[in-house]
Amino acid sequence: MAAAEHPLRELSAWTWIDSTPDGLVSMVLITPAADGPPGLGALAERVGLRQPSEPLPSPGLRLVLHDGYAMVILPQAETALRIPADTGWADFVRRSGTVIVILGEQALAAGATRADVDRYLLDAVMPGRIWLGKTRLAADYASAQVRGETCIICGRAGRDLTPVGYAYTPTTGAPLGWPVAAHPGPCPTAPEEKS
Ligand SMILES: [Zn+2]
Repeated sequence: MAAAEHPLRELSAWTWIDSTPDGLVSMVLITPAADGPPGLGALAERVGLRQPSEPLPSPGLRLVLHDGYAMVILPQAETALRIPADTGWADFVRRSGTVIVILGEQALAAGATRADVDRYLLDAVMPGRIWLGKTRLAADYASAQVRGETCIICGRAGRDLTPVGYAYTPTTGAPLGWPVAAHPGPCPTAPEEKS
């Protein structure tokens, strides 16, 4: 619970499996916590997510899965959002690979039901409410990252890297999982910062 978190702020998250024209897809909605400040929109824009009125982008988000949680890595921002992820969802992600990540500007209460989530997404046809992007579980990483020698989020070395779960690389069969590590807090902004 403690060391591997990269919270930008308090977040709420929901994971589910949705039926789309492309078949079943793993979905994740991340919003500010109910009592937290709004404002994931600026981050979403910065990492290349787009509003529903625009074509669904593939901005290069990455996923690390661990027992009970997932890290959505935003390489452009050198940060990751750590969210709860139940076993069924994580297993489906491992099998299907495709995930649609949705960041919401407005808070949604942590106890929200699936119906609440549907209503939240319907209301989000208004501009400035949600940002979406598609990603796949398996991604290309530097070899030092999949060996756990450098941070899976920022790619830099560090003596205090902490195990954070499994990153996946593509193979001809099922994605291959690698135990990976990350800086225990926010990634250092520059390697020479602590010299
Ligand atoms: Zn890092």
